[in-house]
Amino acid sequence: MKKLFFLCLLFPLGLLAQRTIIHCGQLIDPQKMEVQKEMSIIIEGNKISDVQKGYTVAGANDKVINLENKTVMPGLIDTHVHIESERTNHAFEDKMKMNPADIAFLSTRFAETTLMIGFTTVRDLGGSGVNISLRNAINKGLIKGPRIFSAGRTISSTGGHGDPTNGLREDIMNAPSLNMDVVNGVDECIKAVRTRYKEGSDVIKVMATGGVLSLEKDGTGAQFSEEEMKAIVNTAKDYGMKVAAHAHGAEGIKRAVRAGVSSIEHGTYMDAEAMDLMKQHGTYYVPTIIAGKSVADSAKIPGFFPEVIAGKARAVGPIIQGTFAKAYKAGVKIAFGTDAGVYAHGKNWMEFIYMNEVGMPALETIRAATVSAADLIGASSTIGSIEKGKLADIVAVDGDPTKDIKVMGKMKFVMKDGVVYKNE
Ligand SMILES: [Zn+2]
Repeated sequence: MKKLFFLCLLFPLGLLAQRTIIHCGQLIDPQKMEVQKEMSIIIEGNKISDVQKGYTVAGANDKVINLENKTVMPGLIDTHVHIESERTNHAFEDKMKMNPADIAFLSTRFAETTLMIGFTTVRDLGGSGVNISLRNAINKGLIKGPRIFSAGRTISSTGGHGDPTNGLREDIMNAPSLNMDVVNGVDECIKAVRTRYKEGSDVIKVMATGGVLSLEKDGTGAQFSEEEMKAIVNTAKDYGMKVAAHAHGAEGIKRAVRAGVSSIEHGTYMDAEAMDLMKQHGTYYVPTIIAGKSVADSAKIPGFFPEVIAGKARAVGPIIQGTFAKAYKAGVKIAFGTDAGVYAHGKNWMEFIYMNEVGMPALETIRAATVSAADLIGASSTIGSIEKGKLADIVAVDGDPTKDIKVMGKMKFVMKDGVVYKNE
């Protein structure tokens, strides 16, 4: 016992601790908006302890990771995913057949896929509630996946985009277990937010307008009154949560922005007035261009969607990229988000191409998926950039994304929380 105590005095833990040094051929700094050559990142435990110019020489205890022919950047963040599911042509049947355990087993695969393509953090904007357990399991280290900020279940009005009984038989339509996420009036809105808090949600997701993939006729109209929206946002604030609003039509977007939501998701028919309002309120726009393109493509396959959905998908889907171009030009704050799950998990990186294609420079698209996404989530103090004190979420691609954005799909190195999950 005495001997051990002596050893501890002679070798304080700091000297024994192994450091990891990453040699970066190129390092993207999305805060300064620059690409630095020949840099080293020093990692101790799960945190970045320093960033140094040149290739730092390793000490006896240090481990070196050679990424001298790669472009290194902060772990990517997707602020709009549905991590527990993936859209198929039998989605409605599945909803009636799958138990939470079935969803859970499937979701572990989507979580791992997402991490392996470099997304070390995601914001999950709605599922069955399994998404909360999935988040917890990842945090405990039971399964591989990104750090999840979860909305848990969504909040919708009767007949609204998130009402799961739309289009069903009358007797099932009123089943209480299926109507848990459906609310009307200020009091029920307040109760729903408090319920989400109790269930463990990190963020509130509200269906401010109609949507494409639900069995309802109108995909764009406002579905909550402004009073209801305000009740949701104000209650969420009391509980330390931000609100993300699914919204396609301009009226629903404006009500949500005036009520104080943190982000507008999709925003398809956003007009100039809505963009001005968003700039005034500092509201983020999360475009999800890939989801729009993907549902429009699926709608071309006969029978993939019920006709009521196919019509909306053809109309709404192709418009989003143009809206994004206008919003970006107008100076609306943009955070990267894709609606993964609506299309196949693992293709999230294609959103970089779609954003770049219509005018956003490559470095800015990466900023949207790191610094800006962290700001929207409210996690800027721990993630979104590579600097001293932040969590060691670090990824690297082959090639230079500022010259060819397509290399964002060539993810070769993934570290989350100081642990290496991929190194090719
Ligand atoms: Zn979504």
